[in-house]
Amino acid sequence: MSMGKVRYKRIEDLPGVGPATAKKLRELGFSTVESIAMASVKELAAAGIGEKRAQEIINAARSAIALTFISAEELVKMQQNVERLTTGSKALDRLLGGGLETQSITEFYGEFGSGKSQICMQLCVNVQLPRERGGLEGGALYIDTEHTFRTERIIQMAKHVGLDPKEVVKNIIYAEAFTSDHQMFLLDHADEVIKEHNIRLIIIDSLTAHFRSEYVGREALAERQQKLSKHLHKLIRLARAFNAVAVVTNQVMAKPDVFFGDAVAPIGGHIVAHTSHTRIYLRKAKGQIRIARLVSSPYLPEGEAIFKITENGIEDVAEEEAAKVRRR
Ligand code: ADP
Ligand code: MG
Repeated sequence: MSMGKVRYKRIEDLPGVGPATAKKLRELGFSTVESIAMASVKELAAAGIGEKRAQEIINAARSAIALTFISAEELVKMQQNVERLTTGSKALDRLLGGGLETQSITEFYGEFGSGKSQICMQLCVNVQLPRERGGLEGGALYIDTEHTFRTERIIQMAKHVGLDPKEVVKNIIYAEAFTSDHQMFLLDHADEVIKEHNIRLIIIDSLTAHFRSEYVGREALAERQQKLSKHLHKLIRLARAFNAVAVVTNQVMAKPDVFFGDAVAPIGGHIVAHTSHTRIYLRKAKGQIRIARLVSSPYLPEGEAIFKITENGIEDVAEEEAAKVRRR
């Protein structure tokens, strides 16, 4: 008997999954072996699968992609698989320890116009760059909730880094989410598209806008946080399964307001804070200049980076200019 890793390519190949079950699983958003490996028994039970069989299916999927116990040596290997994506600014990359990490979530929060969407669009271009230039040689998935994604902007940025704009646009899979439910639905059904298009960057811009406008008032708070938490867990699972960078944005008010305490605290609240691995607060300085503050990270020290948004995209600021901003 072979002890090697079993390879199941499609979910139908898993023992215990017939065509009817496969269809139901797909409807629930489990279209790949990877997504089933990360599922819970309860989630599969929703497809009308008995708990025992659900467990067997999950186990088979896990053995196929090695998600069972692993040695520390293998853990080191898995962590070596973590790759980094450049923001386009060396200063910002440095703040992040070399760029945005795969297999975890990075949250950008800040007021309107602070550059959250500009960074997201820049990342969609950069992810397509060769590795030696800080890219991941993959595509991007963009879930847009505020209708602010602009292909003209992507083309501008692509030209600047010397990529063929036509190709760049082709490698960005775009979806507009109309409600928070729709937003969750899109992510729940994203795994096939991620696999098919070699997606290495998943963006939700904005994570919180729909949730905030739909779940208003104290009574709705618990439900909102619960849904947001579920949504983020789905995101982190996708990021791990596909070794992708996950980015979410969150809009906050400009100035701390004495009446409401710390108004720059992200509205997503504590659950977002706990699930997001790296959080960056963006604020405007003079003109094109922006300041990014690393607010929390699993292992990096707090700190700030100065960058700018120009016609070319996200760029570094000349040192003299940065020093001036720092002195202010
Ligand atoms: P938000 O944080 O609300 O998502 P954006 O990422 O949309 O903010 O940032 C908008 C800002 O980006 C604009 O105010 C402008 O300063 C800058 N910007 C957008 N497009 C361009 C461009 N083509 N050239 C230069 N700056 C731009
Ligand atoms: Mg925006």
